[in-house]
Amino acid sequence: MRRFTRHLIIAAAALPLLATAAAAQAQSSAWPTKPITVVVPYAAGGPTDTVARLTALGLSRQLNNHSVVVENATGAGGTIGANRVATAEPDGHTLLVHHVGISTAATLYRKLPYDTRTAFAPIAVLTDSAMTIIAREDFPPNTLPELVQYLQQQKDKVSYGNAGIGAASHLCGMLMMSAMNVQLNTVSYRGNAPVMQDLLGKTLDMTCDQATNTTGQIKAKKVKAYAITTKQRIADLPDLPTADESGLKGFEVNVWHALYAPKGTPEAVVQRLAAAARGALKDAEIVKRFAEINTTTANDERASPAGLARTLNSEIDKWAPLIKAAGQYAD
Ligand code: ASP
Repeated sequence: MRRFTRHLIIAAAALPLLATAAAAQAQSSAWPTKPITVVVPYAAGGPTDTVARLTALGLSRQLNNHSVVVENATGAGGTIGANRVATAEPDGHTLLVHHVGISTAATLYRKLPYDTRTAFAPIAVLTDSAMTIIAREDFPPNTLPELVQYLQQQKDKVSYGNAGIGAASHLCGMLMMSAMNVQLNTVSYRGNAPVMQDLLGKTLDMTCDQATNTTGQIKAKKVKAYAITTKQRIADLPDLPTADESGLKGFEVNVWHALYAPKGTPEAVVQRLAAAARGALKDAEIVKRFAEINTTTANDERASPAGLARTLNSEIDKWAPLIKAAGQYAD
């Protein structure tokens, strides 16, 4: 074949590739072309909602005040909202803020409509927060050892609110029941905001909830706090002992939140979103507002697609054997 003809054939073969790359480039440089929706899989006013709303504010500021709206798609422990995003148009206009529960649901649910490891384009880890074991303000026990004793005596009469199977409050409750050797009467809600309302209204006995949602109520003494689930006490709540030091040896739960897009979102959009997320996590006002509710912002290494992919996969691997050992599944 003459050299010239061969070059033509090679060039023609490369055309579709070039066209695809050009289309992706055009698509990403045009992005965003309409309001960005951040789906929260739990109720408005709860901890995930708070993380999502502060993130949405930060993303909007990073994107020249582009409109970023939050939508609560609740139910089934957060899997309904996750599925909403897994099946959304992968154009960078529909995102998900979810927490550690996305990794536990991968094992807890026998059938999920999406494959957790592959259904999303990871964008960035956002925040971390300890959980707090709390009860209605007039609940009889005053310390964690007293609580364990009380729960053992009451058998299953004490009500425990969670945000559904797969929520962090479900995970914490499951670990707590096994560590304390107690059975609680579990009541499922669509998020921790309504759980907190019922604790304040004293129609529910107890829960385990992120410091993001409980710091203010603990400080105002509107709920009774027994322990924090970090290894060390935290400076802002110095009188609150760790679960570990109060007798639940090794008890530790960290609730990480992260931002996802649907699988297939153009790489250039993923990178722009990740850069915007990193910028948002350095926005002084946002960092301050998170700090006030004992919620820390992720560093650049974790606030990246690779950082989130690593976190998501290692958390699925970490929780799977514990959930299997507990033998608690949902359909
Ligand atoms: N993150 C909460 C939980 O897992 C739910 C919520 O954000 O409302 O328990």
